[in-house]
Formats: sequence, structure tokens, C-alpha cells
Amino acid sequence: MRYVDEFRDPGAAKELVATIAALSGRLGRTMRFMEVCGGHTHTIYRFGLEHLLPEAVEFVHGPGCPVCVIPMGRVDDAIWLAERPGVIFTTFGDMMRVPGTTGNLQQAGARGADVRFVYSPLDALKIARENPDREVVFFAVGFETTAPSTAITLARAAAEGVANFSVFCNHVLINPPLQTLLEARNVRLDGFIGPGHVATVVGSDHFAFIPAEFHLPIVATGFEPLDILQSVAMLLTQYVEGRCEVENQYARVVRPEGNAAALRLMAEVFTPRDTFEWRGLGYIPDSGYRLADAYAEYDAERRFDLPAVRVADHPACECGAVLSGQIKPWQCRVFGTGCTPENPVGTCMVSPEGACAAYYTFGRLSRRPNTR
Ligand code: SF4
Repeated sequence: MRYVDEFRDPGAAKELVATIAALSGRLGRTMRFMEVCGGHTHTIYRFGLEHLLPEAVEFVHGPGCPVCVIPMGRVDDAIWLAERPGVIFTTFGDMMRVPGTTGNLQQAGARGADVRFVYSPLDALKIARENPDREVVFFAVGFETTAPSTAITLARAAAEGVANFSVFCNHVLINPPLQTLLEARNVRLDGFIGPGHVATVVGSDHFAFIPAEFHLPIVATGFEPLDILQSVAMLLTQYVEGRCEVENQYARVVRPEGNAAALRLMAEVFTPRDTFEWRGLGYIPDSGYRLADAYAEYDAERRFDLPAVRVADHPACECGAVLSGQIKPWQCRVFGTGCTPENPVGTCMVSPEGACAAYYTFGRLSRRPNTR
């Protein structure tokens, strides 16, 4: 398959693994690289990359799985919205099984709520056009990667005057949790495999604060196995050559300045929240978007009188420690027993991008020690 097979070529992979082994041998210590994005975690375990690399290179899983970071209270709010009379609640499929305190959206549907999964916010807008006598709410989640598609949908709804459509906005930003994690200094890291999808929108220069303030390299990285291996080689090369900077491995998609049209539209439609709650990580300043005042009539939080009750995570849940790289999924006491993809306790077991789901599906027998 063109544009995919080239990035899964076994011969090229072997060469990169040999390069990584030689570079790591020159450094003589364990190097711990955080893959920020859940898509990278999935590729690492699906293709067994961890087992190809020398013991002295360790992957640390980061906070970049959009489904994993949504707190219980926001899921409860979503269920409350779905159960309002006359509402059609639309969501991406991943969010259907994320647990709140009273179950999940799938179970709300079984109780009688009209919950429909969609592939894009434009599908939700189409449902609104087709059902003018119903209120249609879209559950918007995701980082800067998916925020532009929500913004385009809202701009279109406003242009067409679709009055029965609104968005429950839970879009989050990637830099604030990385900043918080680095300032906490409770996880030893040597660099970042940077989130390629987010970088497509915000640009690789967006991460310049990491080398500038924290003296760690970051490489914006694609999602095929060779992308990740090349990224690891680039990070190690920076150390060998005494450099510390932002590099762009994903140059076939990512520009240093990002996507100007997407950024312009996002700035028109969204405004930063003072603070936003992240599952397991608590409140992080300036880490979420709400709808700008110009789009207030499409804001489900203003259209409906949301209870907005904040609730603590399940007492057994250690998703926060997993999302901040402090523990590996198998170190959570309910991993694979009380918490499985069929019966998730925490969000990291729900989405295929979640680290716990990746370990459970592809790597649960591998238990490399955590060297932090
Ligand atoms: S095993 Fe379940 S509860 Fe534990 S960290 Fe993973 S998702 Fe959360």
C-alpha cells in the first residue's frame, strides 16, 4: 500500500534498530522517552517496537489520549444532557463506554436516551438539519487535532442558522499538561516523541518551550513504526551531538508554523478556559477551550442548565499515574483483573489509544521494570 508499506519495511526497521543500538551504546545509560500521543503508544505495542530496542531505551507513556483525560464529572454532564427530553446526543464511538458515576453513554442509551455515535461533528450537524424539532448536542472531545473540525462545524451551523444544534465543548490543549508534568519533576525523562497529529495543526515550533525551559529534546513524529524508530534515533543523535532542540521527523505532514487556516478558525470559534479538569491530573490552568462569546448560542453549557458536579475518580483508578508516566499500566492494581476493555474502571482501558488498552491487547505479558 503506497505511503504505508514504505514505513513498515522490515529491512529499514532493522537498520534503524542497529543505529539506535549503536547510539544508545555510546551514551551508556538508560534513556527514557515519553511518547506524548496515545496513537504512538498503540503503534509501539501493535508492532512490538519495545522489544526491538535495546534495554537502555525505554518508552514512557504520556497524557495525549483524548478519551483518557476526560474526567468523570464531564461524562456525568454528558449523560445528563443525553437524558434531557427531546435531545439527540451525538458522540464519537470511543466516548460511548467511558465510565461516569452512573454508568456510561451506552447504558444511558439502553435506559432510553437517544445517543448516536457519529464519525465527525458534521454528521451531528446533518442530524440537526434532519430533526428540526429536536435539540442535537455534539460531545466535542480531543486535542488541537480535532478542534478544527468542531470549529468548521460551528462556523457552518452559524452560517446556515441551524438553531437546534449545540456543542458540549471538552477540547483540550497539549502544552499545559506537558508543562505541569515537567514542572512536577516526579518522572525522569530524557526527551519527547512529539505528537504528530497535534503538530500538524499547531506546528512543530509550538513545542519550543520544552528545550528552552526544560532542556529536553522533542521530535514531532509520525505514526508508522519506522516514524517512531527514526524519532528515537533522532533523539539519541541530539544527545550524542550535544544538541537539544525541536526537530520534525513528520515533515511530510507537519510544518514548523502549523496550519494557519485551522489556527485562525480556532481562534475565532474558541476561547481558552481559565482552568480545566483532567482525569487523574486535576485542574490545569489554560488547558481547555470553551466556545467564544460570538458562538454562545451554540454552547450546550450555556443553553442547558448543566449540573456540572465534579466527582472524584474511582478509588482503584490509577489513570493519573499512567497518564503522567509515573507507573506502567500493569502496575495499577486492577489492571487486567478488575479493569479490562470489556469492563473498564478507568478511561485508559477504554480507547484503543489508551496505554492500558494497548498493554492489555498487545503487551500484557511483557513486564519491563520501570526505571524512573
Ligand atoms: S488499569 Fe484501569 S484503572 Fe488502572 S490505570 Fe489503567 S484504566 Fe485506570
